[in-house]
Amino acid sequence: MSSKRQILRLALPSPLRRQFDYLPPEGALDDFQPGLRFLVPFGKRELVGLLLETSEQSDIPVEKLRPAIRCLDLQPLLPAHLLELGLWAANYYQHAVGDALCSFLPVLLRKGEQAQFRHQWLWVVGEPEAADLADVDSKRKNPTQRQQQLLDILREHPDGLSSDALKTLGFSQSLLRGLKEKALVTRIQRETAPPHSLLHKPETKESLLQEVPLALNEEQQRAVDAIAASMGEFQSFLLQGITGSGKTEVYLQLIGKVVERGRQALVLVPEIGLTPQTVGRFRQRFNVPVAVIHSGLTDRERLDAWLMAQQGHAGILIGTRSALLTPLIRPGIIIIDEEHDGSFKQQDGFRYSARDLGIMRARAESIPIILGSATPSLESFANAEAGRYRWLKMEKRAGEASPPEFELLDIRQQLLQDGLSDSLIEQMKTPLQQGEQVLVFLNRRGFAPTLMCHDCGWQADCPQCDAHMTLHRRPPHLHCHHCDYQAPVGATCPECQGRNLNPMGAGTERTEEALQRLFPDISVIRVDRDSTRRKNAMQGILKRVHDGGPCILVGTQMLAKGHHFPKVTLVAILDADAGLFSADFRGMEKMAQLILQVAGRAGRSDRPGKVVMQTLNADHPRLRCLIEQGYTAFAREELIDRKAVRLPPFCHYGLLRAEAVAPGRADAFLQLARMIVEPLTDQRVQLLGPIPSPMERRAGRYRAQLLLYSDQRKALHGVATQLVQLLEQNKHAKKVRWSLDIDPTEMF
Ligand code: ADP
Ligand code: ZN
Ligand code: ZN
Repeated sequence: MSSKRQILRLALPSPLRRQFDYLPPEGALDDFQPGLRFLVPFGKRELVGLLLETSEQSDIPVEKLRPAIRCLDLQPLLPAHLLELGLWAANYYQHAVGDALCSFLPVLLRKGEQAQFRHQWLWVVGEPEAADLADVDSKRKNPTQRQQQLLDILREHPDGLSSDALKTLGFSQSLLRGLKEKALVTRIQRETAPPHSLLHKPETKESLLQEVPLALNEEQQRAVDAIAASMGEFQSFLLQGITGSGKTEVYLQLIGKVVERGRQALVLVPEIGLTPQTVGRFRQRFNVPVAVIHSGLTDRERLDAWLMAQQGHAGILIGTRSALLTPLIRPGIIIIDEEHDGSFKQQDGFRYSARDLGIMRARAESIPIILGSATPSLESFANAEAGRYRWLKMEKRAGEASPPEFELLDIRQQLLQDGLSDSLIEQMKTPLQQGEQVLVFLNRRGFAPTLMCHDCGWQADCPQCDAHMTLHRRPPHLHCHHCDYQAPVGATCPECQGRNLNPMGAGTERTEEALQRLFPDISVIRVDRDSTRRKNAMQGILKRVHDGGPCILVGTQMLAKGHHFPKVTLVAILDADAGLFSADFRGMEKMAQLILQVAGRAGRSDRPGKVVMQTLNADHPRLRCLIEQGYTAFAREELIDRKAVRLPPFCHYGLLRAEAVAPGRADAFLQLARMIVEPLTDQRVQLLGPIPSPMERRAGRYRAQLLLYSDQRKALHGVATQLVQLLEQNKHAKKVRWSLDIDPTEMF
C-alpha cells in the first residue's frame, strides 16, 4: 500500500494523553485543514475529534487505521495558533490533549452540532397552491374573521413572525393551525442572524460610540497612552489601580481604539464579578455587539456567543475563565480584570490558569494584554517588579471620590453581641441617620458555623467530612458547605440528650437578625449565596439598594466585587482575622485582597468613606502595614518572606493529589508515587509528603497529597511528565482518584 495517503491526527475526548490517527473519510479528497472536526469510530462508539495535523506517516500500520466517518465542518473552527496553544497547555498542565482541546469548543460543538447560529421557525403568509387547494373544502378555505386579522398582521411582516411573537399579539396556536390546514400560512426556517457584522460594515468613528467617553485624568491618560502605543504587538501590562481609580474607564477607552481598527477585545472578569452592571457598562458605551460567555448560559446561548466571537460579529467578548479559550477572528487586546481572582484557575479536570494562558495567547496573537487589579497577585506583582510586565499605577480615585479611612477596632476587651461590638454599632448610627448606607461584611453564610451542646461538648459534625456543619435558620437545617450533606436540627443533643444546644459564632443570617433587632426602622438586606439563589434575585436586591434610602447590607464576598454602591459610606469587616493564621501560605495575600476589595465599596461617590475592621490582632505587623502603607508595601513584605522560605513565585509547585474511599489507600498510592519519582529528581526537584490534606476526609473520601517543587521550572516539568506517564501505566493508580495540579492556587 502506498504510504503517501494523508493521515489525520486527531484530538479525541479521551482521558488518554495522546493523539489518535485515522484515515480520511472514504472517497474524500485529501486536503484537510487543522481545526476541522471529524466524526470517527472509537471502539463501538462514535466520537467527535479535532484535527491537529495531517501526516504521511503513522506509528500504527496503515492497514490497521480506520477511516473517519465524515468531516463536520467546511471551515476550521480554531485557528492554528489556538490549536498550538491548546497543545502547549495540555503539555504544561500535564493534561490529556483531547480533553484540553475540547475545552476550546462549546458543548454543542463537542457533540457534533453544526457551527451555525440557532434557527428559528417563522410564520409567513403562504399563497395557497392549487395542489393544496384540491382537497380543501371550498367553504373552509375562507378564513374566519379572527384568522383574517392574523393574516393581515402577517402580510405586514413579510419576513415572518414567530409563534411567541404572535402569542403576545393575542393569536393562539390553534388559530395558526387552522390557517395552516387551509394552506394560507406556512412555516419557514431562518438562521437568527447576529445584529450586525462588525467586519462587513466598516463604521465611522462616531457611530461606534454610543456615549461620550469621560475625560481621563492624568494617571488614566498615561495608562491609556502606554498601552495604546503597544497596539499590534505583544506586551504584558500590570495595571495596578486602587478601587475607584477608574480602571474600567481605561479599559473602555482602549477597547474603543481596538474596535475602531476593526479588531476585537476579549475581557475576562471573575465569576462573581460578571454582573449585569458590568456588562451594562460595555453595552452602553459601544455601538458594537457585545457577546457574553459565563457558566449560567444554556448550551445554545453559549454556542451563539462563541460563534459571534469566532465569526467576528461581536466586537467585544466578555466572560469568565473559559471565555479565554474562545477564538476571535481579529483579536486586538486581552484584558483580565481583577487578575488576582481565584476563579481564573480551574480547580478540576484541565487545571489551567486563564491568566497565565492569557499571556501565552496574547504572545501568540501579537497583541497587548492588561492584567488589572487593585491588589495584584504576588505572582504578577513579582513579574512587574522584575520588569517582565510593564507596570502602570493609578493611585488616586477618579472623579470626586477620595480613598476611605481605615480603623482597626481592637475587640479583645469587648463584649460582642452576635459578633458585633458596641463601638461598631455606635459608629453605624450616624451614617444611617444621615440617609447613607452601611455595608457589613462577613465571609460566612448561614446562621452559625456550628451547633454545640453546652452540657457535653458535642458538635454537629458532617458524617462525610472532617468539618462542622453550618447551622441555617431559614429554613432550619444543618448543612455541610464542603459536600452539601444536609440534616434536620434536633431539639436535643444526640450524645447526652441534653437540651442545651447553642449556635457557636456568627454567619450572615445571624448578623442580619441581630442588626434588624438593633435597627428596627432600617431595612437590612442580606446578600449571600442563599439569599440570591432565585433567578434575578441579585438584580432585585441591587435595585433596592440603588433606589432606596438608608439601609444595611450584610453579605459575603458576593458583595465585595464588581458592585458600585454610591450611597455606602461605612464598611464594617466583622472578622478581619480570618486569613491571618491560615494553613495556606497564600492566606495572608488572599485576606489582604479581600479586605481592600470590600473596603473599596466605601465612599465611591462624593461622600468620604470609612472602613472599620474588628480584630483580635490589632498589632499584627502585616495587617498594620496593609492599612497604614497600602498594598504595595504589604506585597513587598510578603514577597521578602516568600523568598526567604522559597515559596512561590520563587519556587514552582506541582501538587499530586489522591483520594479514595478506603482509609490509607490514597496515602499508600502517594508513597508509591514518591518511590517512582525519587530516582528521577536528581536533586533539582524536591518532594514533600505524602501528607494528609488539611481536611483529610471530604465527601466520604480520604485525601492526601505529595508536593513536588523546584526553582527550575524545566526540571519540575521534566519530572512531572515522566511521573504522569509512569502513574498512568500503574495498576494501583486505578484504585484511587489522582491528579497533578501545576501551579496550584489552593493547597488542599
Ligand atoms: P475601578 O474599576 O478602578 O474600581 P471604575 O472604573 O469603576 O474604577 O471608576 C470608579 C468611578 O469613577 C466610576 O463611577 C467612574 O464612572 C468614575 N470615573 C472613572 N474615570 C473617571 C474620570 N476620568 N472622570 C470622572 N469620573 C470617572
Ligand atoms: Zn450533649
Ligand atoms: Zn460534608
